Amino acid sequence: MSNLQRMLDDIEMEVNLTRHLIGKHALDGRVMEAMKQVPRHKFLPEGFRSLAYDNSPAPIGWGQTISQPYIVALMTDLLNPKPTDTILEIGTGSGYQAAILSKLVKQVYSLEVIGELADKARLRLKKMGYDNVTVKTGDGHSGWLEHAPYNGIIVTAATSYVPEALLEQLAIGARLVIPVGLAYSYQELTLIEKKANGGIESRNILDVNFVPLVGRHGNGTKASGDVHDR
Ligand code: SAH
Repeated sequence: MSNLQRMLDDIEMEVNLTRHLIGKHALDGRVMEAMKQVPRHKFLPEGFRSLAYDNSPAPIGWGQTISQPYIVALMTDLLNPKPTDTILEIGTGSGYQAAILSKLVKQVYSLEVIGELADKARLRLKKMGYDNVTVKTGDGHSGWLEHAPYNGIIVTAATSYVPEALLEQLAIGARLVIPVGLAYSYQELTLIEKKANGGIESRNILDVNFVPLVGRHGNGTKASGDVHDR
């Protein structure tokens, strides 16, 4: 069996194991197809490429990690992406999550606070032909007003609270997927939906362990450590 097929099987198995928490026993077929199409090894530093199809996070430098494939697939599924959507991602990292989204939606805007990571991800995505992803260096706490409102927002670092700007930049009926909780501890992967009356509905999905969203009122003050998500 190929390493890629093993990764897809592992995701399916973990989805099934967590079906009571996530409320389904299989993810959207389009999401699984995107997971199949994007070569994860190309997003990892050379020394870690042999581990690219393990269902686990991996270091990408600057104390940051590429998330576990199951978590990437789950968060993408929770976002409920549609081909006409414009999505905002906070925490570009390697660009892998953005590449997955790029297969599923019209346009992806992605913000990364570490300039070197943003530059590397931008170059990588361009070389690989993911033309509908725009990466910018910046602090995700303020979102990216210029292209708002978004049909979905995904935050791939943990915050102790939900930044107000992200709620404001969400379209009516759109979803925000965000790990909320303490830094270097477990957080709740939270699914938020903006209702027609402007109110929000929030649901905790399951425990996750992300690196903190840093900057302004973030959990940590600087990016450091080597905390892995699940
Ligand atoms: N989605 C990434 C993994 C993200 S790891 C991938 O697919 O590879 C979390 C990322 O969030 C790190 O790269 C970190 O530098 C970034 N980050 C942390 N705080 C941030 C902030 N305030 N604004 C934008 N990005 C931030």
